[in-house]
Amino acid sequence: MSKKGRLLLVLTLAAAALIALGGCGSKGGKKNNVAHKHEYIATVVKEATCKEAGEKSFRCYGCGDTYTEAIPPTEDHKYSSTVVKEATCAETGEREFTCSVCGKTYKENIPATGNHMFEYLETRQPTCVADGGIVYKCKTCDREQIDAIPATGRHEFESRVSRRATCVEIGEITYTCKNCGLEYTELLPATGKHLYESKITKEASCTAAGELTFTCRECGTSYSETIAARGHNWGNWQTMYEPTTEQEGLQQRTCPVCGETQTKSIPKVTPAPSGDDTPKN
Ligand SMILES: [Zn+2]
Ligand SMILES: [Zn+2]
Ligand SMILES: [Zn+2]
Ligand SMILES: [Zn+2]
Ligand SMILES: [Zn+2]
Ligand SMILES: [Zn+2]
Repeated sequence: MSKKGRLLLVLTLAAAALIALGGCGSKGGKKNNVAHKHEYIATVVKEATCKEAGEKSFRCYGCGDTYTEAIPPTEDHKYSSTVVKEATCAETGEREFTCSVCGKTYKENIPATGNHMFEYLETRQPTCVADGGIVYKCKTCDREQIDAIPATGRHEFESRVSRRATCVEIGEITYTCKNCGLEYTELLPATGKHLYESKITKEASCTAAGELTFTCRECGTSYSETIAARGHNWGNWQTMYEPTTEQEGLQQRTCPVCGETQTKSIPKVTPAPSGDDTPKN
């Protein structure tokens, strides 16, 4: 290429550049200048919110060409919260967040406070083997807290005669702890006292002694005592024969119990002196 030719090419390129610049600056330049490259400047026409899409406008500073683009809604919510349910000592609460712009909501748990409100409930007495305690109860959630009172170790025995002592045999007392059932026994000495019951083993008669037998109802030891004879129960004397001058009379009495009889004589009658049978005055 000659020098002249090279200069021509340079001029031609410069002219084309001038035409391109001048053309982009005027309206309709886009139609006339195929080689124009847009250089857009973006302007936010409307900010996007969480609720609504925004809009961005682009304008080519060279040719004035414009177009718009949507700006997608943001996730930038304006939350404010309210407590839907208060947390207690034992139960979680709930807080609700609401976006004041779009109304979107979500919930969050409020952890349980663990701050129980313990009040005295009762005292459980310890026993020999079981701990007692002072019981407190949360007035909100019924949870119990117990301050232990240690087991006493002191048994409370109740006694009963588990085997009765007799005159000759030892007995036994059993002691049982009413709380834990612990048991021990103690021996009871034999009483040495016979428990006699008496029985007439032979009835006494008018003339013969009877017998009363005493027997210990526990060991069977026995002894007897004599019952004195009762003696006859004599009836009245009755005259069997009147006495005469020649012969003695006879009287008799009978014991109705045994039928025994007794007799005795009545002396003879002395004869009266003769010739004098007039009563004296
Ligand atoms: Zn342009
Ligand atoms: Zn929102
Ligand atoms: Zn509680
Ligand atoms: Zn006990
Ligand atoms: Zn006895
Ligand atoms: Zn008799």
